[in-house]
Amino acid sequence: MAYDPNNIFARILRGEIPCKKVDEDAHTLSFRDINPLAPTHVLVIPKTETDKFFDLSGVYLSELLLFAQPIAHAIESAYPCNRCGMSVIGLEVPHAHLHLVPINNADDLNFTREKLKVTPEELREDQERIVSFLH
Ligand code: 5GP
Repeated sequence: MAYDPNNIFARILRGEIPCKKVDEDAHTLSFRDINPLAPTHVLVIPKTETDKFFDLSGVYLSELLLFAQPIAHAIESAYPCNRCGMSVIGLEVPHAHLHLVPINNADDLNFTREKLKVTPEELREDQERIVSFLH
């Protein structure tokens, strides 16, 4: 199926919709998930028009993982957890992305679970906390 340039993450990349940014470089952007599974749940997305994660070119795929590494460490510092887990789903938003989620057990990566109810203020506080451990 053709890439939909009006999906939510494409609009975030174009600056048409705000996000709680964690970090950014030439190829990749990361920001808070608006309906998180856990506090400090972060999305990492490539700056290229690709729907499925494993259709990404080698450059975007490898850069995205290297970009995600310090963010995962910041999540582990920012929120008490056993480690930072990651997941690729993409059934809701058709722009490639990686979920970074603090986990203590496998069920913490169960995306059929009810999401947390967070206020914009809580999202911002978590964003600032992650960023403070990143730099
Ligand atoms: P998936 O496509 O991997 O199934 O899930 C997409 C994820 O994007 C969900 O966890 C959802 O909460 C998140 N999401 C959907 N719309 C927005 C949005 O407008 N802003 C942000 N920050 N996250 C979103």
